[in-house]
Parts: sequence; C-alpha cells; structure tokens
Amino acid sequence: MFRNEIQPFENRVWLSSPTMHGEELDYMQQAYHTNWMSTVGANIDSIEQEIAGFIGVERAVGLATGTAALHLCVKLVGVGPGVQVACSDMTFSATVNPVVYEGGEPVFIDTERDTWNMDPESLCKAFELYPSIKAVVSANLYGTPAKLDEIRAICEEHGAVLIEDAAESLGATYRGRQTGSFGRFNAISFNGNKIITGSAGGMLLTDDEQAAQRVRKWSTQSRDAAPWYQHSELGYNYRISNVIAGVVRGQFPHLQEHIAQKKAIYERYRDGLKDLPVRMNPFDEQNSVPNFWLSCLLIDEEAMCEQTRSDLTASYIPTAGKSCPTEILETLAANNAEGRPIWKPMHLQPIYRDNPFVKACEQSAGEDIFRRGLCLPSDNKMTPAQQDKIIEIIKACFM
Ligand SMILES: *Cc1c(COP(=O)(O)O)cnc(C)c1O
Repeated sequence: MFRNEIQPFENRVWLSSPTMHGEELDYMQQAYHTNWMSTVGANIDSIEQEIAGFIGVERAVGLATGTAALHLCVKLVGVGPGVQVACSDMTFSATVNPVVYEGGEPVFIDTERDTWNMDPESLCKAFELYPSIKAVVSANLYGTPAKLDEIRAICEEHGAVLIEDAAESLGATYRGRQTGSFGRFNAISFNGNKIITGSAGGMLLTDDEQAAQRVRKWSTQSRDAAPWYQHSELGYNYRISNVIAGVVRGQFPHLQEHIAQKKAIYERYRDGLKDLPVRMNPFDEQNSVPNFWLSCLLIDEEAMCEQTRSDLTASYIPTAGKSCPTEILETLAANNAEGRPIWKPMHLQPIYRDNPFVKACEQSAGEDIFRRGLCLPSDNKMTPAQQDKIIEIIKACFM
C-alpha cells in the first residue's frame, strides 16, 4: 500500500559504506611518489604508532585483514589440533574460522540480552563442561562492547587467554578504556564496511612486545636473520600494504566524526521508532560507549508475524499490526535501501552445527535475537530526510 505513496530511493541507501575525506589520497600519493609501494613504509609506521597510542596498548602490528590478525592471535595462544576455544556465537564467521585454521575446535557460547555479546553465565558453564578450554574469542557486536570485565575475570579464573575481536568496535569504550585492549591479544579491522576503512586491512594489538615481534615475523613469511631465505617456522604473507595503510592513516583522524554520525543515526531511529513495538540494539549505558557502527532493531514477540526460515530462504505471512525482519528487509530492498539480518549464530551454521554450543538459559538468546532482529541502513552518508523515509517504511510494515 505504502509502495504507492513512497517513491523508492533514487540512489541506494547502504548498510555501511566507505566514506573518504581527501587525506587518504595524499598519503597514498606519498607512498606512490616515493616508491614505498610495498609492505614497508611511513604510512605503516605511522598508523601502528598512532593506533597503539589511541587504544592504549604497547604494540600494534598492521596486517592484511582483521581475519589475519585473529589468525595470528590464535597462533600466539598456541591453539593446535583438538584444542577447544570458547567463541562468541552471534558474530561474523571471521571471529571463529581462525580457530579452525589451526585445527582447534570452537565451543560456541550463547549471547546475553543486555549487549548482544558473549554471555558470561554461559561462558562459566562452558568451563564446567569443557575445562580444557584454552582461549576465549569475544567479539563486540555492531560496535557495542561486551561485558568485558566479567569475561576477563572468568578467563583469569580458568587460566584461559582472552582474545578480543574488536573488528566492529574501533573507538568504543568500556569503563573508559578502548575496546581492543582487553584481551592479551586483540584484533581490529579496516574492511570496507567498518567504521573507518583502508579498503582492507587489520591490526593485531597487544602489550606483549615479544608476541608483537613474532607476529611481525610470521606475517612476513617467517624469514630468519640469514643471508638467504631461511625459515625455521611456517610463515604467512599477512603484512599490510603501505598504500592501504595510507588510506587508514587518512581515515583515522575522522574516526570520532564517523562515530558522532553513527550515534546520531542510532538516536534518530530510536526516537523515530519509539511508538512501534520494537527496541534498538541495547548497550550498557552505565559502563560503555559504543561506536554505534550499526543500528539494529528487535521486534517485540507480540508484534511478530509468522516468519519461516530454511537454510537458504525466508518467507512470512503479512499480518495487520505485525511485522518481522523478513518483511522489513524485503520492503527496504524494494525501496532501494540495504538492511541485513542479524549475524546468524554460528551454532546454526551448516559448517558449525555439530560443534558444542553452551547456553545458560533454556531458550538461546542468540537464536531469539536472530529471529526477531535486523540491522538497519546505517550509512553515515545517509541524510536525515532519507532516514526519515526509512522510518516511514518501517512504520508502514506494522500497519
Ligand atoms: C569484519 C570482521 C572481521 C574480519 O575482518 P576483515 O578485515 O574483514 O578480515 C572479524 N570479526 C568481526 C566481528 C568482523 O565484523
């Protein structure tokens, strides 16, 4: 009905797309004009220093991707065949795949409802069931910090190493401290859809100087200090390019500006949708400041129309006064706006279905949030007028 009243967006409104400012090109050009077009150069040195200082860690190592950073975090812990690693369940697959690269076994930990991150209670239960868990990989979903102090205390109690996946949460703080500093080893990402981007890229962050040295060596093919190519360890080609680092270098001064834009988007949705039977993705207002990377919705149970999902398809029954993520996402897409389902929990993924999954409650919170939640268009170039129209589109779904 509203499709007749509302014209689709002429230009697509994105979930989250890169936003360049100009300085990126200057730093890329510097690399070009000085021929520092490899995995060595001033841009890399600069961002490593700047970002380590900003996050509050001793060392930052620039890598090709956030996934590479997580892989080397897992290697630093010494995860090998059969080693169990507790992992966030409702997250992007790159949080957990590196465990499997090393032959380890992810044990998925259910989600809590306060921040949509790893549930400390379920994590405690996991250590009871699987006392040999050697490490914990905890992600900060959509830019919202997890209950990091609790998770860290549980890790310490059980002698497990915490790896923080801060790929989505650069600039978010928990109790005044930057995310990406809570684990012994931490990863951030400069992928194209993140809050700032290098078009690609990532970083491993740690206070452990020796660990940082090992990461530098591993990421550059593990060359020994010999006159020829000599290797006593398996190597990787994981170092960041000085050109990519130039993009990151130009983006970094705009991080706070991007966060302010994302926060304004979150608040505009929160206010605009307040009369609907929905809530925004929650965060711990006492202890954390998210970077608001993605704004998400959770539809009240009573307002959910019937929705069915198989492994590859989704459908729903249009119902007056009710809606569901599938209806809203399809309607947004029909209007040339990009939303996305909540990241499908890992324990529901065909590849990870047989892995252990630990939940403290009868009903998995992650499954429930996946069923009733969705990510809204959160692009920082979206205008207030465009966002108002998205709000109208969502309202129409509930009519
Ligand atoms: C993007 C992302 C990664 C991977 O980062 P890349 O730079 O794309 O390899 C890892 N974990 C989470 C939670 C992410 O969102």
